[in-house]
Amino acid sequence: MAKRKSPGQRCIICDRMREIGIVVWGRFICAECEQEIVSTDTSELRYQYYVQRLKRLRPGSADDSLSEAQRTYL
Ligand SMILES: [Zn+2]
Repeated sequence: MAKRKSPGQRCIICDRMREIGIVVWGRFICAECEQEIVSTDTSELRYQYYVQRLKRLRPGSADDSLSEAQRTYL
């Protein structure tokens, strides 16, 4: 089997397995994506994409566009 100490976790933004990152609402975001998010201007389309990805994860959120994702993560 693999000799790596940790397989890491799947980043919910880029969908890659990473070992370093943060956990938000119980979901993993790799350090690279976290950097991208904090360094992206809120007016950029890319930022909106990140926000959407994050919104899907928030448990118990009453947000509108959430129907399916909300059921998944509740
Ligand atoms: Zn990532």
